Amino acid sequence: MKRHAARFTMVALTALALAGCGTGKDEAGADGVAQIDQARLENAASDQDNWLGYGRTYAEQRYSELTQINDSNIGQLSLAWAVELDTARGQEATPIVVDGVMYTSTAWSKVMAVDAATGKVLWQFDPQNDGSKGAHACCDVVNRGVAVWKGRVYVGTIDGRLIALDARDGSKVWEVVTVDQKKPYTITMAPRVVRDKVIIGNSGAELGVRGYVSAYDTNTGKLVWRFYTVPGNPADGPDGAASDEAIEKIARPTWFGNKYWELGGGGTVWDSVVYDQELNQLLIGVGNGSPWNQKYRSEGKGDNLFLSSIVSVDPDTGKYKWHYQINPGETWDFTATQQIMLADLTIDGKPRKVLMQAPKNAFFYVIDRTNGKLISAKPYAPQNWAEGIDLKTGRPIEKPNARFTDGPALIYPSGIGAHAWMPMSYSPKTGLVYIPAMQHAIAYGDQKPYEIHPGRWNTGVSFLDPPALPGLPDTVEGRRKALDAMIKGSLVAYDPVAQKIVWEVKRDWPWNGGTLATAGNLVFEGTVRGEFEAYSADKGQKLWSFQTHRGIMAGPITYRVNGEQYIAVMAGYGGSMGMATKSAWEKRKMPNGLIVAFKIGGKGQLPAYTPVPLAKPDPSTESFTAAQIATGNKYYYTYCTICHNGPVNPDLRRSALLKDKDAWQQVVIKGALAQNGMASFAAYLKPEEAEGIRAFVNQQAKDLLKEEGGE
Ligand code: CA
Repeated sequence: MKRHAARFTMVALTALALAGCGTGKDEAGADGVAQIDQARLENAASDQDNWLGYGRTYAEQRYSELTQINDSNIGQLSLAWAVELDTARGQEATPIVVDGVMYTSTAWSKVMAVDAATGKVLWQFDPQNDGSKGAHACCDVVNRGVAVWKGRVYVGTIDGRLIALDARDGSKVWEVVTVDQKKPYTITMAPRVVRDKVIIGNSGAELGVRGYVSAYDTNTGKLVWRFYTVPGNPADGPDGAASDEAIEKIARPTWFGNKYWELGGGGTVWDSVVYDQELNQLLIGVGNGSPWNQKYRSEGKGDNLFLSSIVSVDPDTGKYKWHYQINPGETWDFTATQQIMLADLTIDGKPRKVLMQAPKNAFFYVIDRTNGKLISAKPYAPQNWAEGIDLKTGRPIEKPNARFTDGPALIYPSGIGAHAWMPMSYSPKTGLVYIPAMQHAIAYGDQKPYEIHPGRWNTGVSFLDPPALPGLPDTVEGRRKALDAMIKGSLVAYDPVAQKIVWEVKRDWPWNGGTLATAGNLVFEGTVRGEFEAYSADKGQKLWSFQTHRGIMAGPITYRVNGEQYIAVMAGYGGSMGMATKSAWEKRKMPNGLIVAFKIGGKGQLPAYTPVPLAKPDPSTESFTAAQIATGNKYYYTYCTICHNGPVNPDLRRSALLKDKDAWQQVVIKGALAQNGMASFAAYLKPEEAEGIRAFVNQQAKDLLKEEGGE
């Protein structure tokens, strides 16, 4: 209590001092971020009013001891306030709350500060990204959150910058470019701050980049250290980075061929970086290979370190400590970037310091974080690629043809993962981890011929129609339907000690939101269908729900202002599934995203919502040749489908531009809509190929019109 009393006095004094300086900030606690230092972050678990880091505490358990909202009064939980955002693109951020002020990022790496009790917007910051950078975002122009430290708010931007803002008014203090902006790097992750260093990784392994994580001085923005996760071109010599020794001694010998660096090798650190305050180590979750297909990346052999690994480094120097590789020789887009969560568990009667991860590959890993040795691993979702994980070697026992080396293979989970970036939570009270889990299968095959398209998707894996395989229907249409029928989601309550599912809520679609666990015996999760829901943490009984009219992906938070507990979440559908997969029910224009906050007896109202139906297909009556349509088919699946197959971006079959050859060329070749994220494709497509795409999409539009009962 003493520490808190002292802190609140400090805050009050600072607020007075600031008022004297004429900052115009009279909101209580508006300068709380000035007080956030290492001690505050290390004590975040007992700081019940606040949500100080991406996963609340350094351990990232997303658990709160608050019980004012609990399983007996949850029926009275109602909207306190809502803030409408400026776009319908995906919202993935977990907000931070410091002394009554909420700091969050939104799509396109914008930042805002909001009064956490009223929803009043205090300030907004727009990093002024080049909109055409949206074309380099594999998985939407999302941003997963900010970090706070000593008066500043830090955000990574979609064009690869790291920016420090003044927490009082959102003005820029410094910015630094963290990537080679000529390459298809992006940033979507939330920065983490450890001892005056702000840690940031990057994304882009689907398109072709080399992954690394960097530490910058929080005060000046100067690079302190960098750790590359995969080897570069040996002809370029050492990187002069903290990783040099580990790359040469440990990683490079596990790569083969004479061009594994051609597409950067991948290994991006795009989401999870966690500081272990007890062991003073930084744990880094490393992503997939570039290209995915190991055959085209490393002659189909080698472990290809540190792909799909959790790497421990010294937070002060970036020097390697240990690693554990989830998928040696990664070839499916099975990343180890998913949330790393720290805990102390009692296993076989002994206290163990563990990290837990539910990576894409469907196994739940409990790892000794003192040395990186595997303790246990069992499936938390259906999978067909491995017999299990060998506890002696820590390596998976892969099933025959899991690597699709002997022809196409139907594998689940697909690269979308049995769990993606959506945060999971852990309640020490129930001993359960709450995982937003998914089922999604894909037919993997070699891309033939293997072609590299610089700056575009380069996986080396075929995304075409599912091939004939034993157990699947004979027709392409039948196989498509069979695969679609496998697509499901669930909220899994998992016992990490016993390695078993305790309860599960089945959902009819994947890509549901992150979870929050509270001591009020509650688990919160938003759904892809816009419901924000609460379940009893011990038994999984549905206790409450609220319809937001936007798919919810982000992780919810809880905090307390003036003695009242709030639950808040960002709503707004998007991300990779939002862009690349059709949904059966989104026959409407996506509404702008929201921040919503709830409390007992809240009297807030959602902004008015009227569903806007999608435009009817209006294809051109021009006749196109079969050759044009075939060309368009090829290029549509090479360049367009990854962003235009879901409800987030325009369904090209419904585009008014289909009837206008010139306007189509203006957009596709000349980049007329570049600021909206539709970059010019002049570097990849000749005008006649773009015209072929119009021919192909026009044909698809005619089919869709028929399907919808039009003429
Ligand atoms: Ca990936």
